[in-house]
Amino acid sequence: TQIMSRGLPKQKPIEGVRQVIVVASGKGGVGKSTTAVNLALALAANDSSKAVGLLDVDVYGPSIPKMMNLKGNPELSPNNLMRPLLNYGISCMSMGFLVEETAPVVWRGLMVMSAIEKLLRQVDWGQLDYLVVDMPPGTGDVQLSVSQNIPISGAVIVSTPQDIALMDAHRGAEMFRKVHVPVLGLVQNMSVFQCPKCKHKTHIFGADGARKLAQTLDLDILGDIPLHLSIREASDMGRPVVFSQPESEEAKAYLHIASEV
Ligand code: ADP
Repeated sequence: TQIMSRGLPKQKPIEGVRQVIVVASGKGGVGKSTTAVNLALALAANDSSKAVGLLDVDVYGPSIPKMMNLKGNPELSPNNLMRPLLNYGISCMSMGFLVEETAPVVWRGLMVMSAIEKLLRQVDWGQLDYLVVDMPPGTGDVQLSVSQNIPISGAVIVSTPQDIALMDAHRGAEMFRKVHVPVLGLVQNMSVFQCPKCKHKTHIFGADGARKLAQTLDLDILGDIPLHLSIREASDMGRPVVFSQPESEEAKAYLHIASEV
């Protein structure tokens, strides 16, 4: 495209932020936001000296407010920047704090881009070691513009083992490569469900599709997260597993991902 052929525009770091890690997926509903939230908590849990932030640029469907049990309007700092909201030790910013939860998202084009610009440039993060960015699903303008505007240490791509999700994840990985964002690896989510009664394991979306894709793309698998009731319940209650059940197998899977990025 034209953007590509003109070369990369100048990237400006986000003030105070050392490393940006984006969490992306091709398809919606595969567990990208759940991964972003638990990854942020896990980065902080693995090293308590690290300051971690979470930025939700999934402007059409922000889920960080609910998952992190936060709502309200960010205050402005004296230099007119928005102050992130804080919970479980993580500084959070989301489009969801700026618009009514039930407001239909009717923005198009420029309005979305000005929202992204606000979220990228008008937040007072203080000093952060890691900023985890929850991207919208897919490979559209928002993903491209985030990738081209700020320096990104790496991208984590989340997919279920289902063919259609993998195809989209493949496309996502290619997009990051084109804009020179290193892909840190894939997270396979919801690969296996173990019946809590009889312990039988079922591969609802397929067994190891993400592993095959990782081989094709020469990428690492950073983690393999089972489909687990407590992950869904914890997210819905705004008490993510890494915070609320840090000793569980599910939480350990996220802590492992954090140790790999
Ligand atoms: P995305 O950001 O890709 O749209 P979400 O993270 O919002 O996906 O997850 C979609 C739904 O699936 C949420 O209700 C979430 O709680 C649930 N979910 C995600 N990962 C898991 C998992 N490993 N086990 C159980 N439920 C999950």
